Amino acid sequence: MASSFHAEDTTSCFGLHCDREPKFRLITLDGEGEDSEGNTIEAGVGIALLCRECAINQVENALEVIGEKVQSDVPTLGLVLLPLQLTADQVHQLKEEISESVPINRKSVH
Ligand SMILES: [Zn+2]
Repeated sequence: MASSFHAEDTTSCFGLHCDREPKFRLITLDGEGEDSEGNTIEAGVGIALLCRECAINQVENALEVIGEKVQSDVPTLGLVLLPLQLTADQVHQLKEEISESVPINRKSVH
């Protein structure tokens, strides 16, 4: 089931010490990890509503984890950055691109 938010929680950025207006949804696919107290965090999808600055910072951090430049307690496996509003057609097109494996066209194009 999709994450949902209370309306009052959507008016300011989820970034630490940031109260700017959110512009983006950052969706991360995370592997299993441990928090700072050693509790297991289940693998899954995380959603954050972020202003432009925090979105860029979070994406840069996530890319560093993916690139294994930094060790993270919760490994990032993938991410999607989206605007807050999408058209129905854009949602449909995005959903089509998320599949279990990369679609291979077996017909030769040459
Ligand atoms: Zn922010």
